[in-house]
Amino acid sequence: MALLEVRNLNKIYEIGIFRKKYIHAVKNVSFSIKEGEIVSLVGESGSGKTTTAKIILGLLKPTSGEILFEGKNLQEYFTNIDTIRELRRKVHAVFQDPFASYNPFYPIDRVLHQAIRLIGFDPASPEAKELMEEALRNVGLDPKSILGKYPHQLSGGEKQRIMVARCWLLMPKLIVADEPVSMIDASTRGGVIKLFEKLRKVQNTSILFITHDMGLAYYISDKILIMYLGELVEEGTPDEILSNPKHDYTKRLIESIPTLYKKWEDLEKIKV
Ligand code: ADP
Ligand code: MG
Repeated sequence: MALLEVRNLNKIYEIGIFRKKYIHAVKNVSFSIKEGEIVSLVGESGSGKTTTAKIILGLLKPTSGEILFEGKNLQEYFTNIDTIRELRRKVHAVFQDPFASYNPFYPIDRVLHQAIRLIGFDPASPEAKELMEEALRNVGLDPKSILGKYPHQLSGGEKQRIMVARCWLLMPKLIVADEPVSMIDASTRGGVIKLFEKLRKVQNTSILFITHDMGLAYYISDKILIMYLGELVEEGTPDEILSNPKHDYTKRLIESIPTLYKKWEDLEKIKV
C-alpha cells in the first residue's frame, strides 16, 4: 500500500465577484508515494505545485478527487481533534518562505516547543530540552547559539534548518517540502538539501519535494513528476526522465540546466 495516494485531483479557483473567472490550477492529477520514497514535483511557477501541496496538507479543499493517507481518506482525519493531531504529526510541511513559519515576536524556540507538545512532552522539562538540542545538532546547528534568538537574528538557511529540526522531533511519515530552498542563499542550499536526505536515511521519511529546479530534483529523488499547466505530463526515475524525456516541456527543463552535473558534484562534497 502506498503511504500517500493522490487520485484524480482537480482544483478550480474562482476569482472575481461580478465577472467570475475560473482558473483550473490542478487537472486530474494522480500519483502515489511509498514509504521512504523521495518524490519530486517539478514545474515552473504557476503550474499548480503549491495548490497540490496545500490540498495534500489539508489546507485547501479540492474541487474533486481524493487523497488517501495510509489508506484512509484525508477527509476522515478531519472529523475529530485526535485524528487531526495524528495527521499533523504524521504529515509535516516545510514551506518556501523561511520567515513565514515564524512569529517575529517570539524566540525561535517556540516552533520547537510546538513540536515538543505534539509529541507529548512538556517543553519546560529536561527531556524536552535534551530532545530539542539533539534535533538542532542533527541539522548542524549549535543549540547554544540558536536557542533564545529571535527570527530576525537568524539567516534564511538557519531558519530552514530549524524547520528540518522540527521534523527530527516529530518524525513525520511524510514531509511536504514546497520549494524549501528557493528563498535561501545559493551557498547554503546544498546543505539543507542534504539534511532532507539524511532524515530520510535515518527515519525512513517519505518526502514530496516540490521544486522548479530540475537539477535538485535529479539529485534528490527516487521518482520525478513533471507538472505543466496543472497537469502531470511525465513521471519516471531521474535517469529515465533525463535520458529519455518525452514531453517537450521536460526537454526544455533539462536543457535549461547546463550546470546540472556540476551542481550534483558540488552536493556530493557537502558533509552534514
Ligand atoms: P506553483 O506553486 O506551481 O507556482 P500555484 O499552485 O501557486 O502554482 O498556482 C497555480 C495557478 O493557480 C496559478 O495560475 C495561480 O495564479 C493560481 N492560484 C493560486 N492560488 C490561487 C488563489 N488563492 N486564488 C486564485 N488563483 C490562485
Ligand atoms: Mg508554489
